[in-house]
Amino acid sequence: MTERSVLVLLGPPGAGKGTQADRLSKSVGIAHVSTGDLFRGHLSANSSLGRAAKGYMESGQLVPDDLVIDMLFDRVSKPDCEKGYLLDGFPRTVAQAQALERRIAPPWRQRAIEIAVPDEVLVARISGRRTCPKCNASFHTVSLPPAKPDVCDACGGALVQRADDQADVVRKRLSVYREQTAPVSVFYSQRGLLTRVDGNLPPDRVFEAILGWAQNKKAG
Ligand code: AMP
Repeated sequence: MTERSVLVLLGPPGAGKGTQADRLSKSVGIAHVSTGDLFRGHLSANSSLGRAAKGYMESGQLVPDDLVIDMLFDRVSKPDCEKGYLLDGFPRTVAQAQALERRIAPPWRQRAIEIAVPDEVLVARISGRRTCPKCNASFHTVSLPPAKPDVCDACGGALVQRADDQADVVRKRLSVYREQTAPVSVFYSQRGLLTRVDGNLPPDRVFEAILGWAQNKKAG
């Protein structure tokens, strides 16, 4: 029986989950599923789910569990997730972690890794973040500036700051993380499924640690 892995990437907003998940999914060839990206897709399409999620997202709160879980399970039923997938931004509550656990039966198994970063580093990182709405490339005003200010190196699109990356919303997202999402790390740790990596190291070192974890089938 071939093992099929659900790799769960945990960490506060600004820990670098999106960037690392993108690199990892390309490197090991599994689908990268980001619930934040799925919601942003629904917002731009102005779908009913997008309209339901908008207020929560713009104020830095979590979208209700039932909406997130339905959207996620629908996404991971697609053929590109048949052999395994990498979750970025899910689960964000213990109820979401429990729903995922109920869905996973052998040969499937799950493992989680947490990218740990001190709070004071996070606000600075997030408020400098810029993304390209056309091709989804990400930049940072200090650590990864584009060649021309506010212009995407990859496609020439105009870079934007996500509404929820502004400082006051970032602080709200961090307090939501501490209250609702930190217990998810405890959930995986109690099951012996959690590995922690220091997210304050240079991004390449963080990536090496995550890649090692993803390739070690026996890691807990
Ligand atoms: P992200 O890009 O992962 O930071 O997600 C952006 C926003 O989408 C979050 O601040 C939430 O409002 C919403 N969101 C994304 N994933 C989830 C989730 N698993 N549970 C609840 N809300 C979520």
